[in-house]
Amino acid sequence: MELSQRVKNITPSSTLAITAKANELRASGIDVIGLAAGEPDFNTPEPIIEAAIKAAREGHTKYTATSGLSALKEAIVKKIAHDNKIHIKSENIIVTTGAKHALYLTFQALLNPGDEVIIPAPYWVSYTEQVKLAEGVPVIVNGLEENDFKLSLEQIKQATTEKTRAIIINSPSNPTGMIYSKEELKEIGEYCLEKGLAVISDEIYEKLVYDGAVATSIVEVVPELQKTAVMINGVSKSHAMTGWRIGYAVADSVLIKAMTNVASHSTSNPTSIAQYAALEAYTGSQESVEHMRQAFEGRLNRAYERLISIPGIRCIKPQGAFYLFPNVKRAAEMTGFSSVADWATALVEEAKIAVVPGEGFGAPDYMRLSYATSMENINEALDRLHTFMESHI
Ligand code: PLP
Repeated sequence: MELSQRVKNITPSSTLAITAKANELRASGIDVIGLAAGEPDFNTPEPIIEAAIKAAREGHTKYTATSGLSALKEAIVKKIAHDNKIHIKSENIIVTTGAKHALYLTFQALLNPGDEVIIPAPYWVSYTEQVKLAEGVPVIVNGLEENDFKLSLEQIKQATTEKTRAIIINSPSNPTGMIYSKEELKEIGEYCLEKGLAVISDEIYEKLVYDGAVATSIVEVVPELQKTAVMINGVSKSHAMTGWRIGYAVADSVLIKAMTNVASHSTSNPTSIAQYAALEAYTGSQESVEHMRQAFEGRLNRAYERLISIPGIRCIKPQGAFYLFPNVKRAAEMTGFSSVADWATALVEEAKIAVVPGEGFGAPDYMRLSYATSMENINEALDRLHTFMESHI
């Protein structure tokens, strides 16, 4: 069957090959430790689950408004006032089917064919493909390891053309875990304001910050950006709710209306009972969020310490999210592999650990290793990696 050009332009997720290999080995009874996950391993906190069950029993099983339940949008207004010190109204919010759909709707509503979007690399895999689906042009700019993988203002200036419509800022970042400082955000925000560039600020890992680090929204630092920025967030990572599919976008009401229009013809509304669950997530106790954050921090410290003791591996200590993003080019070479991708395949097949090669994030010398798994798995996986390296050097 002949497929659309639009779909042919999309690259399948590069993480799939390793995940498929790991699943295949697991199915044949081999114990592979997965460090590829992009989601918390915790179950959703009990009160949130209870709220969803209650909503279903009370008959909240019908369509909701496309942009989400009023009560949930009110809760998000309060969350943003409290956490981000930004004062918005309900009309500035659309609740979406995960943060991923908030991003998708943003590009659909914002981009004309040929519009350029600056995407800092290493990047989360869906940005480039979503921009292409909206007939935009991803402009990849490499964040340097010396600058914690973050873009400098100079790099952004150099990448800006007459066609630049938007820039993505993902802080804390997937895959690097790096956080832009307030000073850096101020510089970038003011430049975007001056040039009329939309800032798409993906803040999904906002709550997962370590060692005293703080993730600030660029809109908090440059409040005038409220007119031209889109804040993306949701409950997936903060409240261990990836499967519930609730995210949101905050933007000028004109853009939100346009996004709502697109959503009304695609998803109608996010799942009603999941919205009630998210309402509990935002209005109930935040103790479990902090509890999970602390568990991630303990795992990060352990995993980081072990990782940097392995020959051929160097890594900047992440400040947020739940990934380590080491440079492993030397490790691959030391063990006879010409690419990190081939080395990662050997890690699955021989060492029985699944990691994600950096290629898919636009950084082929690196790998992403998720510590959203038990301490026991982390210890065992890093033992296996160490043994693999020692036996191949
Ligand atoms: N943005 C980033 C940087 C992510 O890592 C993810 C999920 O992996 C998302 C957005 C999407 O989140 P959600 O599961 O809410 O769609």
